[in-house]
Amino acid sequence: MTAPAAPALLDQDGLNALVAALVAQGRTVIGPTVRDGAIVLAELTSADALPYGWGVELDAGRYRLAPREDGAAFAHSAGPQSWKSYLHPSREQLWSADRTPEGPVSFTPQEPEVPSYAFLGVRPCDLRAIAIQDRVLTGGRYADDGYGRRRCKALLIAVECTEPGATCFCVSTGGGPAADPGYDLALTEIVDENGHRFLARVGSDEGAELLDRIPHRTADPVTQGTADAAVDAARDRMGRSLPPVDLHTLMGASLTAERWDDVAARCLTCGNCTMVCPTCFCTTTEEVTDLTGDHTERWQRWDSCFDLDFSRLHGGPVRSSARSRYRQWLTHKLSTWYDQFGTSGCVGCGRCITWCPAGIDITEEVAALDAEQAQHAEHADLGTETD
Ligand code: SF4
Ligand code: SF4
Repeated sequence: MTAPAAPALLDQDGLNALVAALVAQGRTVIGPTVRDGAIVLAELTSADALPYGWGVELDAGRYRLAPREDGAAFAHSAGPQSWKSYLHPSREQLWSADRTPEGPVSFTPQEPEVPSYAFLGVRPCDLRAIAIQDRVLTGGRYADDGYGRRRCKALLIAVECTEPGATCFCVSTGGGPAADPGYDLALTEIVDENGHRFLARVGSDEGAELLDRIPHRTADPVTQGTADAAVDAARDRMGRSLPPVDLHTLMGASLTAERWDDVAARCLTCGNCTMVCPTCFCTTTEEVTDLTGDHTERWQRWDSCFDLDFSRLHGGPVRSSARSRYRQWLTHKLSTWYDQFGTSGCVGCGRCITWCPAGIDITEEVAALDAEQAQHAEHADLGTETD
């Protein structure tokens, strides 16, 4: 990439022009909009569809839209979907096969033309989640062709976070409300007495070219300071946090913890947490035949480690209890993910807390496991002293 340009400033006309320029390029623009009582991701044909004037109120097992007076478009935290719905869709046909009386079975791979996505409003936590899925699904043993084809054509426009939700905890996972590299363009929304505007930072040549096409001006130092202060303030307003401990060690030491029984008594094993998680990537495949048996299709679909069939081997599932399935999910996410991929599998987006029908809170569960370990260590020390 050429040297990054100085931050630019867009007004609302600039944001409208940004979406129009992306549409004119033939891109499928995906961004947040209000639908069915939530802020969801959907195709946008103009910036008018952004959720101006809407925020969200979140808690464990609770999500509500909340009107805002400032008219901000991006003053909401993670919604029920993540970008994996587009890059790694929940169902995808892999191939079909046909049998005719005249000849052998013919196989037809499904490699449809993929859209050139432009994702508008990628939160910094979700930017990190995309980087994690890139590592898992575009290289190594688990490369997924469909993901790779969609990902290499996707343009990422991040929006830094200035309104963290009550279930957000990205900072305690090593991230933050500021966008890490990996974006093409990063916006910071500012709404104050000087108006509604967006500080824009360029992250790639494609981002620079896009910015050149739309009306903007160079950002003055005062506005840059205002944007940085808003992001800094968000860092201190996270709704939740993970305990500041070595999670890899804690989870490894907690395999027989009593807390797993406690969480298993509440967990419905519905798998919602894995469906909404932006880093969960597991899939299974299934064959579907027509009534004649002459046509069959192989489909890939999301799977969940909460599903009994997920660990089914000869004779039955390896993880038959809710205890073992929740433990598997949390231990993989926070510990063995490091062994496989060199990072945590959690970016602190809070979706699994918000969308858990039982209100199970990953930060609360980790804190309880940590407290249980501390108690064991204390008892062990007392035992040593008594000896
Ligand atoms: S933790 Fe919550 S969302 Fe996840 S499987 Fe259990 S009940 Fe469902
Ligand atoms: S585990 Fe929960 S908080 Fe962490 S990335 Fe997944 S959904 Fe977000």
